[in-house]
Amino acid sequence: MTAFCRNCGSALPYAARFCSSCGTFVSGASYAAYSPYQPRLERPLYGRQFAGVCAGLARTYGWDVGLVRIVAVVSGIFLFPFPEVIYLACWIGIPEELPGEMPMGQVQQPPPQS
Ligand SMILES: [Zn+2]
Repeated sequence: MTAFCRNCGSALPYAARFCSSCGTFVSGASYAAYSPYQPRLERPLYGRQFAGVCAGLARTYGWDVGLVRIVAVVSGIFLFPFPEVIYLACWIGIPEELPGEMPMGQVQQPPPQS
């Protein structure tokens, strides 16, 4: 597994905390390396925009979900229809996250008693 620096784009070891080229803190890679939650390729139930393919890829690989969506939309326009076919394949092929498997910190809090 490799990670990429958000600042300069250098390939880094997946467990790297700082970029070896520019010294930027690589928060996504460190989160993935040190989190007790093991990310799997699945479509999350929360944080999805459409089918959860972009959110699932972003969460699994530590990418920025906004960036993934922008790349998906732009490539969908200019490379039609190939990205759409890939998206449909991911939709079918990537399992949906099961309820109750949400990572810590995303658990819904019960509403306050009034
Ligand atoms: Zn860098």
